Amino acid sequence: MRYCSFCGKPETLTSLMLSGDNGYICPECANLAKKYLEENKSKAFKKSISDIPKPTEIKAFLDQYVIGQDAAKERISVAVYNHYKRISSQNVIDDVDIEKSNCIMIGNTGTGKTLIAKTIAKMLDVPFTIVDCTSLTQAGYVGDDVETILVRLLQAADYDVDRAEQGIIFIDEIDKIGRKSANPSITRDVSGEGVQQALLKIIEGSVVGVPPLGGRKHPDMPLVYVNTKNILFICGGAFEGIDKKIEARYNVHAIGFNTNKEEKSFNEENPLKHVSPLDLKSFGLIPELIGRLPVITYMNELDKDALRKILTEPKNSVIKQYQKLLSLDGINLKFEPKVYDYIVDRAIESKLGARGLRMIIEDLMTKAMFELPIQNVTKYKVTLKYAKSILDPITYK
Ligand code: ADP
Repeated sequence: MRYCSFCGKPETLTSLMLSGDNGYICPECANLAKKYLEENKSKAFKKSISDIPKPTEIKAFLDQYVIGQDAAKERISVAVYNHYKRISSQNVIDDVDIEKSNCIMIGNTGTGKTLIAKTIAKMLDVPFTIVDCTSLTQAGYVGDDVETILVRLLQAADYDVDRAEQGIIFIDEIDKIGRKSANPSITRDVSGEGVQQALLKIIEGSVVGVPPLGGRKHPDMPLVYVNTKNILFICGGAFEGIDKKIEARYNVHAIGFNTNKEEKSFNEENPLKHVSPLDLKSFGLIPELIGRLPVITYMNELDKDALRKILTEPKNSVIKQYQKLLSLDGINLKFEPKVYDYIVDRAIESKLGARGLRMIIEDLMTKAMFELPIQNVTKYKVTLKYAKSILDPITYK
């Protein structure tokens, strides 16, 4: 006779008994456990400060998934720590009101901006959503209203408003909503300044009524109210050409003192290291919005060495993902090490950063993944000769 390891009920008194390695659970106890978990999930960050992971712990977690980008990882780890400390200390009443540490990451596509934000949300187990600014328009115009961002966060939180209110929103391509006033267009700037004003409202913190199922607000539809005060916003953008602007600004500043030294050191490092809010303004971001993104950081270009590591080292690296896919068919997938170097060379040619790696491996593996499941094999090795035969005819420029 089997008994529930939690309440001791014998299997004759219950419809079903689930078994694990060393015990059993009846449906009633499983349901109770589920309810308990759900209730406690809502209390995600109603924790004491000592429970919040320290910046070094956040960075160490990021290191498992994101290669390089140490400056950005450190900056964001501190910002996230401060953000959740701020939430935990909100019931401490004194004169000091800690402001939100919303962040902005500047750097080319495929360098890991989204990955950093996503990984932090995963570590903290908070709801997370990504929004692409290019799809946003001012309320009432064709496209997504800014408020749909909150609908998506709410969905990511399984409609648990408390959890959504402590989530993270990644706003991608923020450089694409620059004010276009220099542009003598006769149409309204519905995707530029209007969107920035709407974003500003939610980033600053306000209570926003959102239609829970998305779509336009309708007079008869009940709204769910989301307070954005404790939502962390992390923005990303390539800000193409910003390096030239920074360099220009620096050269002007360098005149008169230490000219040689400044120029020399600048040549060796990533100009984005010196990015300032001023540079963002020249992309048409309104000062109020820039002011609400106090943590500015930058991404480095991924060189050969970084790309090579990205292929195999992160916990869920692309190679590991393909190996897992094939292992589900009972096939042990291996690559000749030279194949990795070859893929990296081709990815550099594609100029898509780490995003190129995935595309190239997909091209490389499609044929094998198509044919292998019906072949009776337990091992498959990709050789350099095979990789070249598949990829050499393809151009990635
Ligand atoms: P971005 O937001 O900067 O355009 P993403 O974070 O979306 O770039 O990166 C695209 C993909 O490339 C990620 O899913 C990840 O697999 C890989 N990737 C990019 N940068 C890194 C990195 N620094 N370390 C590990 N993987 C990376």
